Amino acid sequence: MHLAHFPRVRLFPAPTPLEKLENLTRVLGGPEIWIKRDDCTVVATGGNKVRKLEFLAGAAVAQGADHLVTQGAVQSNHVRQTVAVAAKLGMKCSVLLEHRVETNDPGYLTSGNVLLDRLMGATIEYRPGGTDMNAAAEAKGEELRAAGARPYVIPGGGSNRVGALGYVSCAQELMQQADDMGLKIDRVVHATGSAGTQAGLVVGLEGMNAGVRVLGIGVRAPRPQQEANVHRLAQEVAAYVGVKGGIAREAVEANCDYVGPGYGQPTEGMREAVTMFAQLEGVLLDPVYSGKGMAGLIDLIRKGVIGAKERVVFLHTGGAVGLYGYQGFFEQGFAA
Ligand SMILES: *Cc1c(COP(=O)(O)O)cnc(C)c1O
Repeated sequence: MHLAHFPRVRLFPAPTPLEKLENLTRVLGGPEIWIKRDDCTVVATGGNKVRKLEFLAGAAVAQGADHLVTQGAVQSNHVRQTVAVAAKLGMKCSVLLEHRVETNDPGYLTSGNVLLDRLMGATIEYRPGGTDMNAAAEAKGEELRAAGARPYVIPGGGSNRVGALGYVSCAQELMQQADDMGLKIDRVVHATGSAGTQAGLVVGLEGMNAGVRVLGIGVRAPRPQQEANVHRLAQEVAAYVGVKGGIAREAVEANCDYVGPGYGQPTEGMREAVTMFAQLEGVLLDPVYSGKGMAGLIDLIRKGVIGAKERVVFLHTGGAVGLYGYQGFFEQGFAA
């Protein structure tokens, strides 16, 4: 692995902080819980997609693109971060937003991420729930190309072998920090969706023989599908960066028991996790990803699946802007 072989634009000052969550560790009485603050990647309130975009936008610039195209749900953090990076690099940005979450809630439909997309000047089109969104984004790219633009099309979540390099890099950064601090890590836990974050982390950690397990907490697909998606992408990334022998299937572990009724649908576990983080640590999680990821970690600690002697790093993937899309849900909780 030698990431300097790949075009990259620097978008934030690394490393992101690695901190112990003293209060949460005490209250849960279990493993030592640390947090890797990838919600602090600077660009338009940050998040995990900024790391992927360092390599995706790097490739776009190398190809002479003048326009980024991508897609996501209405409250997509990935779309918001892509729009911001396009603005910063002086590119145009066209995004397709899928009505993936069935709701008439004006907060969800107009506040949070989508408000920021508009503020940062994205050209937005909507698509019905269930659309093949990556195909729709490719079609949008073709349309723009036919009209004379030089678009670069980024898949949902920035999850392909190029975007996942951002999390190979994060794995390297995390191990360097841990080694500098003399901190032995047993496991990394994070929310997994479009699979690029987990695929990159697994390739980075396996490529270094770090002996650190990765657990993805699913937010959309059932476990067999999620693990297959992550493993498929991890194999591609391993080949791309030259990790010999590929990635063992057992290195990919997801738990998809915390999705609740569906993608972007709030759960009581998410409410508890978001509230605990806010009130015990002053850290803001998000309702769609990191809130459900942490709900999973809390439950697995309470059940003893993650042992009291472990040291766990929760990778905070960002998304707190999405809280504004769920104001009604949180207000119900205050009233109760
Ligand atoms: C996109 C996203 C994730 C999931 O990352 P993937 O690479 O899509 O699996 C997790 N948390 C937040 C806040 C996100 O926006």
